[in-house]
Formats: sequence, C-alpha cells, structure tokens
Amino acid sequence: MVDPVTGSLSARTKIRRLPDKAVTERSALDSILDEGLVAHVGIIDGEQPFVLPVGYARRGDEVIVHGSSGSRLFRALADGAPACLTVTLLDGLVYARSAFESSMNYRSAMILGSTHRLTGDDELDALRVLSDHLLPGRWDEARQPSKKERVATITVALPLTEWSVKVSEGAPDDDPSDLQNEPWRSIWAGHVPLTQVMLPAVTDQYVPGNVPVPDYVQQRL
Ligand SMILES: Cc1cc2nc3c(=O)[nH]c(=O)nc-3n(C[C@H](O)[C@H](O)[C@H](O)COP(=O)(O)OP(=O)(O)OC[C@H]3O[C@@H](n4cnc5c(N)ncnc54)[C@H](O)[C@@H]3O)c2cc1C
Repeated sequence: MVDPVTGSLSARTKIRRLPDKAVTERSALDSILDEGLVAHVGIIDGEQPFVLPVGYARRGDEVIVHGSSGSRLFRALADGAPACLTVTLLDGLVYARSAFESSMNYRSAMILGSTHRLTGDDELDALRVLSDHLLPGRWDEARQPSKKERVATITVALPLTEWSVKVSEGAPDDDPSDLQNEPWRSIWAGHVPLTQVMLPAVTDQYVPGNVPVPDYVQQRL
C-alpha cells in the first residue's frame, strides 16, 4: 500500500539500512528534485538492468524526462516499463577515524513506478518545464521544437506516488572505541562540504560580436 503523501511507507521504498536517515516529508523530495539536474533511470531489458543518466524536471506530482525515439530507454519508458529513477545531490566527503565509517554526505531520492508517454500540448508544456528547469529563461528565446524534432522525441512522465528520500549529513559517525583509543583518537577527522558551482559562460564562436550573455545566464553564475 502506497501512501500518496509519504511514499516511503510502501514496502518497496522503506529504507532498511540506517533508517534514521530516511525523510518522509514530501517537501524534502520536491526540494531534491528541484535542485538536481541529472537523474539516473533504470529499466530491465531482458535479463539485464540498464541505468542511464538523463536531464529531468519536476512538474507538480510527476517527473518529466525526454529522449530520442530511437533510444532503448525511452522506447521502454513509452511502453510503460517498470522504472526506477534516482537523483543524488553530493554534499560532502566524510573522513572518519576508520576506513569503514568514512562515507559521503548526500541528499538522494528514489522513485519507483511506470511512466506514461505525453503527447500534443501536454508534451509541449512538459518540454517547456524541462527547459525552464535545466536552462531557466531559454525557452522564450530559443527556437521552438519543429514537427520533425517532436517526432524524434519521446517525452514521458513518472508519477511521484512511490518514493523515498535519504539524507546523510554532518560529522563522521565513528565507532566509539576509535574516539577513545590511540592512535585513531588523535588523527584528523571531519567532513569536506562539496557544492556545484557555475563558472563564467563561454560564448560560442558563431555568436555575432555585439550579442551579450543574456541576463538569464548571467544571473545563474
Ligand atoms: C552519494 C551516495 C553514496 C553512497 N555510498 C554508499 C556506499 O559506498 N555503500 C553503501 O552501502 N551505501 C552507500 N550509499 C547508500 C545507498 O544508496 C543505500 O542507501 C545503502 O546501500 C542501503 O541499501 P539497502 O540495502 O538498505 O537498500 P534497499 O534495501 O535496497 O533499499 C530499500 C529501499 O530504500 C530506499 N533507498 C535505499 N537507499 C536509498 C537512497 N540512497 N536514497 C533514497 N532512497 C533509498 C529505496 O526506496 C529502496 O527501494 C550511498 C548513497 C549515496 C547517495
């Protein structure tokens, strides 16, 4: 039974290892999905699972992904294959006293379910939402998708009904004996925060010389 508010109550999305790191508020899911840019989508083709990275966007209660109509992944998703989508925000490296407890800080989300293909105006709206998430401001200035490009594209939506969120943060979780016994109690330990930074934009060589970098790009830097 899947609770529509706290998807992590389902048997399949119940976090088993380190369950204290589970977060069940829907706002935590939304905030990870709205901050991330890349999702990994897994499907099974025959006997073999395949996991591919893709750009994505959240549209309300669903995640939108799109790709080539020639792609194995997107053909399977269009057919409603069972899928697993994850988004990971890597927040830091954790230096514990032991190699065993050394780890990473992160916020990660996993969504299970089947996608459905979007068509017509609904698909166009989803493509706009994708563009607004990945390249805010660009949709209004760029050329819109042509008929041929639309045919070459599969756009699907995965509902946010069965999901889990796991968050690991802060200091190392050392074995108490390592905090008391030499030499481990005297070595440095801690964590190094990591973040994703945008660097100054690089203008394409074919842009006429008098065209500045648009505000919607500058504002992200
Ligand atoms: C950047 C990063 C690095 C990690 N490195 C390691 C590592 O080196 N070794 C390691 O053992 N684990 C690592 N983890 C944690 C790993 O993702 C699993 O949570 C962990 O292996 C526990 O697996 P399990 O067998 O309990 O999960 P399962 O029993 O397979 O999971 C049950 C359910 O819990 C939920 N779930 C499990 N993990 C996550 C997650 N990370 N995010 C959201 N939902 C989740 C899913 O809904 C899943 O269906 C890492 C996580 C991240 C984000």
